[in-house]
Amino acid sequence: MDASVIIVGAGPAGLMLAGELRLAGVGVIVLERLPGRTGESRGIGLAPRTMEVLDQRGLLGRFGGIETSEQGHFGGIPVDFGPLVAVHGAARTVPQSATETVLEDWARELGADIRRGREFVGLTDHGDHVEVRVRDSAGEQRLRARYLVGCDGGRSAVRKEAGFDFPGTAATTEMFLADLRGVDLEPRMVADRVSGGMVMVNRLGDGIVRIVVGERGAPPQRRDGPPAFSEVADAWKRLTGIDIAHAEPLWVSAFGDATRQVTEYRRGRVLLAGDSAHIHLPAGGQGMNTGIQDAVNLGWKLAAVVRGTAPETLLETYHEERHEIGRRLLANTRAQSLLLLGGDEVQPLRDLLGELAGFDEVARYLAGRAGGFDIRYDAGSGHPLLGMRMPHLELERTAAGRPGRVTGSTELLRAGRGVLLDLEDNPHLRRRADGWTDRIDVVTAAPHGPAPRGALEGAAAVLVRPDGHVAWIAPGSRHDLPMALERWFGPGR
Ligand SMILES: Cc1cc2nc3c(=O)[nH]c(=O)nc-3n(C[C@H](O)[C@H](O)[C@H](O)COP(=O)(O)OP(=O)(O)OC[C@H]3O[C@@H](n4cnc5c(N)ncnc54)[C@H](O)[C@@H]3O)c2cc1C
Repeated sequence: MDASVIIVGAGPAGLMLAGELRLAGVGVIVLERLPGRTGESRGIGLAPRTMEVLDQRGLLGRFGGIETSEQGHFGGIPVDFGPLVAVHGAARTVPQSATETVLEDWARELGADIRRGREFVGLTDHGDHVEVRVRDSAGEQRLRARYLVGCDGGRSAVRKEAGFDFPGTAATTEMFLADLRGVDLEPRMVADRVSGGMVMVNRLGDGIVRIVVGERGAPPQRRDGPPAFSEVADAWKRLTGIDIAHAEPLWVSAFGDATRQVTEYRRGRVLLAGDSAHIHLPAGGQGMNTGIQDAVNLGWKLAAVVRGTAPETLLETYHEERHEIGRRLLANTRAQSLLLLGGDEVQPLRDLLGELAGFDEVARYLAGRAGGFDIRYDAGSGHPLLGMRMPHLELERTAAGRPGRVTGSTELLRAGRGVLLDLEDNPHLRRRADGWTDRIDVVTAAPHGPAPRGALEGAAAVLVRPDGHVAWIAPGSRHDLPMALERWFGPGR
């Protein structure tokens, strides 16, 4: 084998997955068609949940200071992440290229073999391994791996070659994006509906302004390259009356509202993550966030299967959990598209939703959707936190009854391993986890400080998966601890 896992695509999903697999000690090759980074950034937003996910791996510091906000929107209806946010708000001016650089550096430091200028062109699934055909300047070569993961974006060749079904709807409209220098426009961070469509303006720093413009009813075009800047400037003028034709375009791009999702996230030894599995209008800036979270859901499971500590059935939970998230993503981007791009006929619905958002429970629901906090995987019934993300908790670690270092629960996930958090210094409980200590860390700690423990009030112990989701909690889980450990981490030693 050339590697245990081959990943196609060094975008955010592929790079995050490469880092996750390396954290677990799995050999990985990443094949990327482009010879170098383009510096282009479709996404500029990190959702609060993605901020937490990056924090779990200690990556936030590498961004060099991120400005965050607790305000967001759902289809233009303001939402407040405040009540749900423990530590981080949303970041709205982090270029996707910066996120990719951070992830690539991290994955390389961990030993990922990232090969640029290599195009995936075909595969054969032999049942016990996958053979991959790769083209580079020297010709074509074949590589073998136990698993192949397509993280090669919306036009995924892996998806096509492996025969995944990708049903959905074709694009009905087209919008433009342009990064400009030499023009000063007032920020319009939340998509601003204007007569005839919507516009957005973000200041990206260094005098660069990002504009997005969508004219209602603009039909999708067949394009071989990016649109001319004059098309964008004309649309901008029609919608805002402002002439930006003199600006220097640094990057111009068109995108549509095609909405599709694969019916299965795994076929044999081939898996998909990120845009290769789901495409949609980038309303609410969720695609990259979802791709990163796909990767964080898949990484530890694939690593456990490759290393032989968990059965292959663990991979089924990747499809079960993330297909449902993708389905909800498509539904919510469709809803947001209607709210943002619809005409006056949608106004009564906007007004009604705006009124409903005044109710606390609805506000929390919309903020959960927009922030990525509402994800609940099936971890059995019982305690309300089961399957949800582990809320951040300040902890004082204790060793043999002595007070110890203060740490955050998020920090405990840095190694990408599961964590059994024993909040009541219970040696009996810790002994029950003995058979799994090669895969999970057992941490004895007490909540630190006066901050309320929220949903963790009354919890004596919590088992957290490497992706930060609660797999078991006591009291409150119907299953016992060894059952939960076996379900998520494979049989004990
Ligand atoms: C205008 C716009 C704004 C957006 N804003 C946001 C936002 O604010 N927040 C957000 O979360 N998302 C946003 N998105 C969506 C986001 O950009 C994508 O969801 C994200 O890039 C998907 O990441 P990925 O890793 O799955 O795929 P990609 O980023 O598309 O990466 C795929 C990689 O695979 C490589 N590749 C393709 N084919 C091959 C091949 N055959 N062989 C080898 N390599 C190959 C490509 O070169 C590429 O590097 C936005 C999108 C648009 C269009």
